[in-house]
Amino acid sequence: MLDAKAYVESVKAAIQQRDPEQVEFQEAVFAVLDSLVPVLEKHPRVIQENLLERLVEPERVIEFRVPWQDDAGSFHVNRGYRVQFNSAIGPYKGGLRFHPSVNLSTVKFLGFEQTFKNSLTGLPIGGGKGGSDFDPKGKSDSEVMRFCQSFMTELARHIGPDLDVPAGDIGVGGREVGYLFGAYKRLRGYQNGVLTGKNLTFGGSLARTEATGYGLLYYTQAMLHANSDQIAGKKIKISGSGNVAIYALQKATEMGATVVTVSDSDGFVYDPAGIDDGVVRQIKEVKRGRIKEYVKEVPTAVYHPGSVWDFDVEYDIALPCATQNEIDEAQAKAMVQQHVKYICEGANMPSDEQAIAVYHENGIAYGPAKAANAGGVAVSALEMSQNSERLSWTFNEVDDRLEKIMHDIFAESEKAAEDYGLAGNYQAGANIAGFKKVAIAMIAQGL
Ligand code: GLU
Repeated sequence: MLDAKAYVESVKAAIQQRDPEQVEFQEAVFAVLDSLVPVLEKHPRVIQENLLERLVEPERVIEFRVPWQDDAGSFHVNRGYRVQFNSAIGPYKGGLRFHPSVNLSTVKFLGFEQTFKNSLTGLPIGGGKGGSDFDPKGKSDSEVMRFCQSFMTELARHIGPDLDVPAGDIGVGGREVGYLFGAYKRLRGYQNGVLTGKNLTFGGSLARTEATGYGLLYYTQAMLHANSDQIAGKKIKISGSGNVAIYALQKATEMGATVVTVSDSDGFVYDPAGIDDGVVRQIKEVKRGRIKEYVKEVPTAVYHPGSVWDFDVEYDIALPCATQNEIDEAQAKAMVQQHVKYICEGANMPSDEQAIAVYHENGIAYGPAKAANAGGVAVSALEMSQNSERLSWTFNEVDDRLEKIMHDIFAESEKAAEDYGLAGNYQAGANIAGFKKVAIAMIAQGL
């Protein structure tokens, strides 16, 4: 039998051979595989059963054509995806992303990460992800509706409350989930639990909208407590201005921190007095505008084009909430100069591999996405529970459960890292803790 390191290298080689062009997927998988070496050394059965090669191959990949018509009458075609990654611990669960960057590699990386994230929540949900290269930016409501209806025409046959339960992600919010749900209903009949992130009037959960952002702050709070520190009084940089960023900003402010930036793909706004979440919500959610409009509403704020991570200012906590690979090595090194002590990821894989190495080498406590942003999917699972029992819980009940789940995720990751001699490495801890449950379930269920 191969030793742990040689086995991991052989699994990496198999992936490279099968899908050489899927760079995002390789990046996500290789980081996890490397941190599992100490687990394999203790549990050779994982190697005997070739569990890792089974785990990195999605159970099913669905790729489909999405034809739609714009308001002027022109015909368009986009590509749709659903990757049903792993159902060892429950039905496939994970969001749909509508963004021009979506391709099979991104959807596979997100589905793989989702499997571990969902396991960490402690709730019975497997991993999946989907989406399309459709760009909702600048499209009318009726164009988005027709696109969602066409997308669901194909997706409907592959999903179900006990089979696969999609939700939102970048480019898919309450509006899109509503159109998708309406289309599903006409095709397959009313199934309340087939999607999460629904509107409150048809089975949505209170606190689902806030969940990823609030959860990020509950996780960050647990990390600071473990380091005998607290959020109150801290200066925070947030990137992004979508659903995750808005509610992270709101909760951080409520906890007594000052959030000095938010951004979009064109630039960022800076206000040392603190960003107002109400204004950001108005611009992004109501007007569906760009973040530079913020300075019209709040004249003390300044707008800069470019990346917020290139902006030189001292601060304590980084909360990247925009997209994958938004922070590179040079930007991570700048954080060290700017005396950043903590980074917790609201977006999925926002730090590239070299940036993560910089955090570890310089003692920046690092909360990886699969742990820190699990609050969204955790409340999605609570929405599924409420749909099954045909009841709605109060905001406080859901929020209290979310807070506990996020504190437990931190504690479990911290403990898993300690158990394997990696104290303080919350990334390795999250990978190990997330892997354990999936591995036990896969072994128990046989090939
Ligand atoms: N898209 C979110 C994530 O990355 C939420 C998925 C869900 O609620 O199913 O975890």
